[in-house]
Amino acid sequence: MTRRLAYFLSALAVAAGLLAGIAILTAERDIVLFEGVEGPRDRSVVQARQPTSWTKYEGGGGSRLSVLLTDADSSWLGLVHGLKSAGIPFSVTTDYRQALHHKVILVYPTISGSVLRPEALRALASVPRNGGTLIGSFVLGGGLQTVFGFQDAVPSRRRFRLNMAESAIDAADPREAWLPLGNATGDGEAIGTYAYTSSREAPLATYEDGGAAIIHRQVGSGNAYALGIDLGALLLKGYNNREEGVARSYVNEFEPTLDVLLRLLGEIYSKADDRAVILRPVPDGKDLAVVISHDIDYTRSLTNALEYARLERSLGIAATYFIQTKYLKDWNDDIILDETAPGLLAEIRNMGMELASHGVSHSRVFRDFPMGDGSESYPDYRPFVKDAATTSGGTILGELRVSRFLLEQLAEVAAVTSFRPGHLLNPFALPQALDATGYAFSSSVTANNSLIPRSVDNDR
Ligand SMILES: [Zn+2]
Repeated sequence: MTRRLAYFLSALAVAAGLLAGIAILTAERDIVLFEGVEGPRDRSVVQARQPTSWTKYEGGGGSRLSVLLTDADSSWLGLVHGLKSAGIPFSVTTDYRQALHHKVILVYPTISGSVLRPEALRALASVPRNGGTLIGSFVLGGGLQTVFGFQDAVPSRRRFRLNMAESAIDAADPREAWLPLGNATGDGEAIGTYAYTSSREAPLATYEDGGAAIIHRQVGSGNAYALGIDLGALLLKGYNNREEGVARSYVNEFEPTLDVLLRLLGEIYSKADDRAVILRPVPDGKDLAVVISHDIDYTRSLTNALEYARLERSLGIAATYFIQTKYLKDWNDDIILDETAPGLLAEIRNMGMELASHGVSHSRVFRDFPMGDGSESYPDYRPFVKDAATTSGGTILGELRVSRFLLEQLAEVAAVTSFRPGHLLNPFALPQALDATGYAFSSSVTANNSLIPRSVDNDR
């Protein structure tokens, strides 16, 4: 490693800055500069929005669940991600004739006379009669009420709860018995839903007002199910961290909302096709996946990390260390990335741990940072946290680029690909900024906020 300079940014040092290269070493320095380390020199460019096409998910055999897409401008991508996470094999099509090659068809996001032609509606109506399973999301028209066994579909944005019938859940935890759809005491609006009136059989789920949310009708050996919730939209709320007060807890609790609904869908699919398989969501046939990560975001954390890494190594665990590359002293804390850092980082790396970024500033207002111009570089990038509400000089791209560059330089790792924002603050522009700066992963959301069951996260 090159010789390191540290200097004290006082009024004197500002003056001394004019005499470039003069180092002032003091115990109370405000910045650490690593000599010869400057960059990154390349520019980060945020790409234009590129919507994913549903055609990415078409094709495959007839034993998959067919998703018949009736509106490509819907939340179908949430549904696709949900099905993947639950291990349910699926195939997306906009052609009802393709869908008819499958034994189980989920029509999404809506069934109505305006999105499906009469011949398509007739063909879909015959699916349960012919022994297949038809799942309709938002069955609003097209004359299929008798197929699903209800009279009317009544819309509302003021249904906040989904009460699951015992037959529809595992009931391993009481929090599976009802699922939240909104925050009645918050903005007073829930996700838009439909209630099906006069359902012929006992519903699989009802709203708090007793209206039927998920209904089932058996037709010979076939089945018809109607969903009154937009599963794709609810999945996206969770996956995009836009749950808006839906989740019953922030962290360290059990929030099974999305899993309960995906599991129900998986059971409907498995029962309906004897060729059906559900892929195990945990790799290598294991029972449980655990990802261990640490935030290194206070002065002593980097030294302490060695003990954790040694223990993990002895247990055969490769953990992720999110390092705050803090080379400035500010309101938050003292400097973390001092001259001992390169050696410590190398030791952690050599024990097989992943070195990842926890940004530079750990600002409480990261969510409000401007994007930046993509040319931010060390040592000129100087985000300064003045207090809880104020940070100067910070940008989203700066936090991502400069921290990544420093870790790669100081610890000599080929590529830092994971990021976690301080306080899990999640600006709307974060995904495209991560993409522009070469990250592949972000740990930005708690499990409960994602409306999925569990994470243990004690240090954010
Ligand atoms: Zn942190």
